[in-house]
Amino acid sequence: MIFADKALLPNGWENNVRIEVLNGKIGSVSVGAAAQPGDTRVSTVIAGMPNVHSHAFQRGHSGLTEIRGLGRESFWTWREMMYRFALSVTPEDVGILAEMAYVEMLEAGYTRVGEFHYLHHGTDGTPYENPAELSERIFTAAEHTGIALTHLPVFYAHAGFGPQAPDAGQRRFIHSVDRFIDLVAICEARRTRPQDRVGFAPHSLRATSADELTALCAALPGRKIHIHIAEQVKEVEDCLAFYGQRPVDWLFDHAEVNADWCLIHATHLTPEETAKIAASQAVAGLCPVTEANLGDGLFPAPEYLAAGGRIAIGTDSNVRIDVAEELRILEYGQRLTARARNILAPEGGSTGRHLFEATLAGGAQALDAPTPQIINGAPADLVALSDPLNLREGDAVLDRWIFGRDVSPSDVWAAGVHVVQAGRHIHRDAVEARFAKVLRRVLA
Ligand code: ZN
Repeated sequence: MIFADKALLPNGWENNVRIEVLNGKIGSVSVGAAAQPGDTRVSTVIAGMPNVHSHAFQRGHSGLTEIRGLGRESFWTWREMMYRFALSVTPEDVGILAEMAYVEMLEAGYTRVGEFHYLHHGTDGTPYENPAELSERIFTAAEHTGIALTHLPVFYAHAGFGPQAPDAGQRRFIHSVDRFIDLVAICEARRTRPQDRVGFAPHSLRATSADELTALCAALPGRKIHIHIAEQVKEVEDCLAFYGQRPVDWLFDHAEVNADWCLIHATHLTPEETAKIAASQAVAGLCPVTEANLGDGLFPAPEYLAAGGRIAIGTDSNVRIDVAEELRILEYGQRLTARARNILAPEGGSTGRHLFEATLAGGAQALDAPTPQIINGAPADLVALSDPLNLREGDAVLDRWIFGRDVSPSDVWAAGVHVVQAGRHIHRDAVEARFAKVLRRVLA
């Protein structure tokens, strides 16, 4: 049993909440209860956050692309470094890098990850005997660390609009439509835990042709669909040059974009495109830390939220893994450009509470999971925030976690398992040692 001084329940904050965990789910929630001997006592309990967009292996080069080269540094020079890394890791490495990322996600308060997984083949581009060899490593990493997985195998076929043939640096990513559909089926069969899900992800409009996109959507109905879109100005320009339309406009004319879709980044939008995404009930998968790191640009969040748009957050490149930091940068990007404060909250509301609840719901929708709630029968995916000052108010705990100091995740339960204790994942030491070994070898 968990006893919390306060907890954020579906109807708001309650004090002295006792939560029973039973077979991975919440068995009961008692409000105004008394702590019993043997209870795990914590300060504040909230639901675990979904991380809607991760490329786990990129955790390996976190912080290693920050040296200025000649001229203007851009996304494209970062991508060269990422490709060099992607081409050198073994299946075992992929599993270890993912375990490190997932340990850190759980420590940060993420209890589900959407793994946008595009490393599929051997280092020379030859498929493994098991076509899902590297997907297998992702499932295993999720199982070892305890994080719930929405696995999103990525379809990648071209180097650019045209379609252009893939280049050598992309050889581990490439599929035909038929072989990709087989991969999704193998991943579905590999799924052993009830909380895991399998969707799919056409990588982007530059890596997927119009015909391929149509074929994939027809062949894989009912699955969540994630796609990178309009992240870079160059991508928008290339799309305009080839299709005569901007990426989001083109997508809406060529696919039935609805609540099954998650549009990753969607950074460069016209007001009409912004309104279109909001009305479609698709989720905008925002990755503010990575978008800032890569110099992508700024999503038009105020206009999109005012139109009722749904949002989620993702750690994407895993350069940093921190729920509070994603939400803070999401808001701060707007403050810096609008020269105003508390932009993304409704009038009179707490910015932290609003952003937390919006991304909780949007993230779950995009990852094919129930909205995380502290309620009987829900998955026991719970995050305790420590608050040494022990201030009793509710929303301010979220605001102080996201924008201030003092408050941070202390304990996390994933499907009822107490995987993070006193801020550390129970397997951190072992995973960190294996991770360091991989880095030393790959970077040698
Ligand atoms: Zn991405």
